[in-house]
Amino acid sequence: MVPRLLIAAAAGCAFAEVYGYWLHILLHSNRIEFLSRDHMLHHLVIYGPRQPLVRPGPYLSSTKGRLGLGAIGLEWLVPVVLAILACLALLRACGAAWPTAAAFVGASLAWSSVFFNYVHDATHIKGIWLEQAPLLRSWFATTRRLHILHHTVLDDEGHMAANFGISFALCDRLFGTFLAAARPFNESGLRAALRRYSYIF
Ligand SMILES: [Zn+2]
Ligand SMILES: [Zn+2]
Repeated sequence: MVPRLLIAAAAGCAFAEVYGYWLHILLHSNRIEFLSRDHMLHHLVIYGPRQPLVRPGPYLSSTKGRLGLGAIGLEWLVPVVLAILACLALLRACGAAWPTAAAFVGASLAWSSVFFNYVHDATHIKGIWLEQAPLLRSWFATTRRLHILHHTVLDDEGHMAANFGISFALCDRLFGTFLAAARPFNESGLRAALRRYSYIF
């Protein structure tokens, strides 16, 4: 029973990492306009490519004045809740017991909360404890550097096109969106992004 729960929890973590990566790509694709619009509040209004991206705390949430769970906006919450419900239904339909399904879902939510929500916000906070943590500071410095590239490297259409995994680069490396070094700033790309989302300012 215990190994089964551990396997379910590990699978939940893996699912959360892959699903979070593809959801983040969806948020940047403008395929579902309200999802991208809300994500662009973070990327263009509050932590824009030309604004300081690492500042003394607290983290500046993009959910002020709109629905959200703390600093997590509906653009993340709605797809995550839908995915969790779908996973629960699928696991139960496949005969998984409730404890197994709960281990999968619980681990998935915990992984997302830490590695997509907490670590993301931490990358924007100057002086956060992770900068000094002996075993974590090297990983965190890399994570922050890659996330800053996610904010500042735009294509000609104004889309942020790299580094969608927040804490780990595995999916970016697997699916061809990994970027290790900065490129010259794309001014016309930023103008295109600001034109597309001018109504959110
Ligand atoms: Zn993003
Ligand atoms: Zn960010």
